[in-house]
Amino acid sequence: MRRVIICTSCSHQLGHLSMSCGHCGQSYRDRHVAASLAFFGGVVGMHRAYMRSWTTAGLYLAASLAALLVEPKGLALIAACSLVEGLIFLSMKEPMWRRSHRRAKPAA
Ligand SMILES: [Zn+2]
Repeated sequence: MRRVIICTSCSHQLGHLSMSCGHCGQSYRDRHVAASLAFFGGVVGMHRAYMRSWTTAGLYLAASLAALLVEPKGLALIAACSLVEGLIFLSMKEPMWRRSHRRAKPAA
């Protein structure tokens, strides 16, 4: 059975792997990519940048730089935060992920 995902913006049916809605242009981020970035680049906020959460991406980067300058052990705490975020991303069901992490970027 083929899984069908409904666009949270216009209720149009999307393919399971669609990165954007062909009907309204709503864009989505892949949670597996976001989780991978959280695991391997989360210390500098790569997963947040991928999700276009620029504020939290900047906070991750600033916290990492501050930790490097002040107390390098702080990087472990930042890495733990991004690891937990990655695990949360992977544990979410696809419709919930799309509802909570969609980015309003309709096609022009
Ligand atoms: Zn749509």
